[in-house]
Amino acid sequence: MTVVENYGSLVFNDRVMKNKLPKDVYKALRKTIDNNTHLDLEIANAVAVAMKEWAVDHGATHYTHWFQPMTGTTAEKHDSFISPTGEGEVMMEFSGKELVKGEPDASSFPSGGIRATFEARGYTAWDPTSPAFIKDKTLYIPTAFCSYSGEALDKKTPLLRSMQALNQSAVRVLQKLGQKDVTGITTTVGPEQEYFLIDKEDYKKRMDLIFTGRTLLGARPPKGQEMEDHYFGSLKPRVAAFMHDLDDELWKLGVPAKTKHNEVAPCQHELAPVFDTTNVAVDHNQLTMEVMKKVADKHGFVCLLHEKPFEGINGSGKHNNWSMITNTGVNLLDPGKTPGENVQFLVFLTAVIEAVDKYADLMRLSVASAGNDHRLGANEAPPAIISIFLGDELTEILQAIEKDEFFEKHSKVQLETGAKVLPHFFKDTTDRNRTSPFAFTGNKFEFRSLGSSLSVSGPNVVLNTAVADALDDIYGKIREVPEEKLEEAIHEVIKETIIRHKRVIFNGNGYTDEWVAEAEKRGLYNYRSTPDVLPVFLEKKNMDLFTGYGVFTENEIRSRYEILVEEYNKTLHIEAGTLVEMINHQFLPALAKTIRGCVELANQKKLLSEKLVGEAELAAIASFTEQHEKLYRLTKTLQADIEKAEETEDELDKAHFYQETILKDMEEIRKVADEAEAAMPKEEIPYPTYADMLFYV
Ligand code: ADP
Ligand code: MG
Repeated sequence: MTVVENYGSLVFNDRVMKNKLPKDVYKALRKTIDNNTHLDLEIANAVAVAMKEWAVDHGATHYTHWFQPMTGTTAEKHDSFISPTGEGEVMMEFSGKELVKGEPDASSFPSGGIRATFEARGYTAWDPTSPAFIKDKTLYIPTAFCSYSGEALDKKTPLLRSMQALNQSAVRVLQKLGQKDVTGITTTVGPEQEYFLIDKEDYKKRMDLIFTGRTLLGARPPKGQEMEDHYFGSLKPRVAAFMHDLDDELWKLGVPAKTKHNEVAPCQHELAPVFDTTNVAVDHNQLTMEVMKKVADKHGFVCLLHEKPFEGINGSGKHNNWSMITNTGVNLLDPGKTPGENVQFLVFLTAVIEAVDKYADLMRLSVASAGNDHRLGANEAPPAIISIFLGDELTEILQAIEKDEFFEKHSKVQLETGAKVLPHFFKDTTDRNRTSPFAFTGNKFEFRSLGSSLSVSGPNVVLNTAVADALDDIYGKIREVPEEKLEEAIHEVIKETIIRHKRVIFNGNGYTDEWVAEAEKRGLYNYRSTPDVLPVFLEKKNMDLFTGYGVFTENEIRSRYEILVEEYNKTLHIEAGTLVEMINHQFLPALAKTIRGCVELANQKKLLSEKLVGEAELAAIASFTEQHEKLYRLTKTLQADIEKAEETEDELDKAHFYQETILKDMEEIRKVADEAEAAMPKEEIPYPTYADMLFYV
């Protein structure tokens, strides 16, 4: 099969729909997909029959409502198509009702109290805007997951709501700007996914990787990433074979995997797809992460998606490239070539600036997790302070607007009508600032603070809603302005908005201490850790934003907040418990054995000759013994602190205790153990070392 034939061959995409569905059914479904209108059960029945026939033709025996509960991964429960006929035979059946709605029960997923309060079961509802596909002989139907009272229990529902909110706000502004043919906009996302590949045999021997996804112990190897010889390096044959297979699998599923390369850290790689509608991009990214793990397994690898699998080596992130596109195909963050396009671009650009300045706290919240805390602000990923990078050219233009010098300074082209034109910007590759959390890259923004394992839903929910709010703010100021005064009014609004929100723009090096001080002076948020930032979810300003746009109800916000705090605490509880196990069951016995070996050798030396004092052994015994004692004591302290943490009633207090005390306990243990590991005989180290895992793939 050629790539073109292979691509999307397991997707119930538009081409298949057109082929398989009666014309009127296809039209009705298309209308539902494009305009978000209600689908009649009759139409759903016809779609279900076609879908089932196509799926069975492609070897499917089951179907599943695929959804994204608050765990951050995806969930599925498979039902077969079979229906007994009563004569000992079966038929393959699938109805519109089964397509549209499912009742997985699924009562064990986190609901943050929503279901306890309402005692309702969860149900899944088909999302026709994301195409169904076949994986492992099962027809996957993307769905939203809600409680019976309609409250969202998943990551898809709020995303769809936020896209709807932004759509309404943006269309209003565009219509006012004279874009009468624009009836809808969608947001687009291209997530760049980083990951590590290590050998499966090594993985199986590391309790920490198995239980927590990251190494809790491990001395630095003699070589790290300092040579930067891995970045964009040639692919090793085993890795190349994996990537080839991965592309193949993703293409079949209609995921437009485009770019692949080695990353900075050894064993680290990246995959970027071609961007898509946000809703589809989010589903595809979830699918990508799943398929990566599956294909890795087939190649004898394990794919690590944790934000910080290895200490002292870059962790993994996910860059969320984001823009808005009209139904007429115009990218709203693309500076155009005509005066009208320029104004439109500047309106949307300033709206994003306002949105980020006002809701930087929510953006920080949207990327907060125990894993990502190891990256943000650690000089390998953007700082925890959210700011915008615009580049010198664009910043200069905004400054000119602010000082009313705009037209004099920047109208490089004058039209005959006397209208002024902004110069066209191109993606400036010389002007890339890797230290910025939110960078303008020519025709889109790149939100760089996301961790590698995160669902990209949350950050886009915040972006979409915040920008909707900023656009409404702008709309409110131009709504009543008559046509002939509009240009001036818009200019004023842009100017005002820049003056009010320019503090969030920063083009310098985000890794420096000066920036931290400067950001504080500017009054920007700086939430260093997850427990620090979680409460912002409940602040009035933010509650008002989400409830105002119908993205979350107050109840949904409270439940999500609870889930986030609990998730943090559970993660650290598991990490701390795993470390205790590794020290008690593996490391201390290994160290004791090492000491015994030293004692034995010292005695043997003495037997050989009276003159041999066993100097080397005595020194080793002294230092290993001290480390053994220290580790024993530190582990006792950690165990006591874990108990203390678990006795803490208030979940946020507990989170702070984990962050401030338990993480420190763990670091101290690690320091001693890693020192000992570096001096131990290789065969006594009870797990594969960093050198084993990172340099032998
Ligand atoms: P880099 O590594 O330089 O940041 P990549 O080419 O790896 O760039 O990734 C850029 C990503 O941005 C790709 O996924 C691409 O499809 C996506 N992208 C490009 N244009 C848009 C757009 N208008 N909206 C959203 N994403 C976009
Ligand atoms: Mg990038």
